[in-house]
Amino acid sequence: MEKRYLFTPGPTPVPPEVLAASAEPIVHHRGPDFRDVYESTLRRLKEVHRTSADVLLFTSSGSGAMESAVANLAAPGDRVAVVSHGSFGERWIAICEQHGLDVQAIRYEWGERPDAAEVGAAVADSGVEIVFCQQSDTSTGVVSDVRAVKEAVGEALLVVDAVSSLGAVPLETDEWGIDVVVSGSQKALMAPPGLATASVPAHVLERTKRSRSFYFDWRATKKAQDKLDATFTPAVSLIRSLDVALGLILADGLEQAFERHVRLGRAARAGVKAMGLELFSPDDDTSAVATAIRAPEGIDADELLLHLRDRHGVTLAPGQAHLKGKVFRIGHIGWFDVFDIASALAAVELSLTELGAYIERGVAVPAAFEAFESSVATS
Ligand SMILES: *Cc1c(COP(=O)(O)O)cnc(C)c1O
Repeated sequence: MEKRYLFTPGPTPVPPEVLAASAEPIVHHRGPDFRDVYESTLRRLKEVHRTSADVLLFTSSGSGAMESAVANLAAPGDRVAVVSHGSFGERWIAICEQHGLDVQAIRYEWGERPDAAEVGAAVADSGVEIVFCQQSDTSTGVVSDVRAVKEAVGEALLVVDAVSSLGAVPLETDEWGIDVVVSGSQKALMAPPGLATASVPAHVLERTKRSRSFYFDWRATKKAQDKLDATFTPAVSLIRSLDVALGLILADGLEQAFERHVRLGRAARAGVKAMGLELFSPDDDTSAVATAIRAPEGIDADELLLHLRDRHGVTLAPGQAHLKGKVFRIGHIGWFDVFDIASALAAVELSLTELGAYIERGVAVPAAFEAFESSVATS
């Protein structure tokens, strides 16, 4: 019997009461039993999305909500901009291209934070009316200042992928004027994979074109949700789980979640540095979602991950695309505490030693605990 540890930035560990909710008997999705859960989930989603707008709920992974934005907001030939600073930015570009859009890619080095003023200038130059970006590009751990990006792009619609950041770092959808926010159940929202969300206010819905997706049609989805109905059979068991998870998050309050994520990020970085490893993600409090770490000289990151899994039952995340083999990532979104970070660090320390890397031993975990204790100034 082996105990397994999941320390990735999605999917993330799920609290037992959230898992248990999905084991409840199945209810029919067009009856009062489901309507209560649906109503509660949709209401809580608005709170977590910090918006008074409708939050559309889809049975799909996060990429489904991303594609829904493209399919409802643009038509083939439309020129749109994508701010890309990692593999998920490249996903926006791929989705837009597959839908026949003319994409202006505003690219940054992976690991770099987008420059809002530069993005604003590029968008003003081209005159595009829709901009897609990430709040957190989970591939690098970089969290972008989407508030500044929205200010910089002005009237252009800003569609923010917050799949890994919603519930982890502040995102004031209404207050910052973010037009659309998409997210997913399996990251900071502490629920199993399989559900995706998109906040769509009235002013955005008015601008939608005829949806090029039947399944992800925003107008049809809103019309159904308004009656607490669903366009298609939703994953009722997952929605039950998500409802419980959102309830847990809101009971503690989002502010507390944001503070915990900052402190978990500090703990992870302090431990990594104490061991003598080099960070890939920025070494500051914005890196609250995931910590990306460079594999030491002579060690292949993917080999390290396999070793961690096979020898110690610990799952961390690999580097993506050109970072594959070079970088590995510890997630700290959702149901994580400092003991998870300590376990992840201890396992990395052990595996690297077993693989023959030279690292400082016995210092990472104390450093992590010490960093976690530091208080966070909340604005
Ligand atoms: C996880 C993630 C997604 C969605 O991935 P799925 O596998 O489709 O759920 C999108 N964007 C970011 C930034 C993510 O971290």
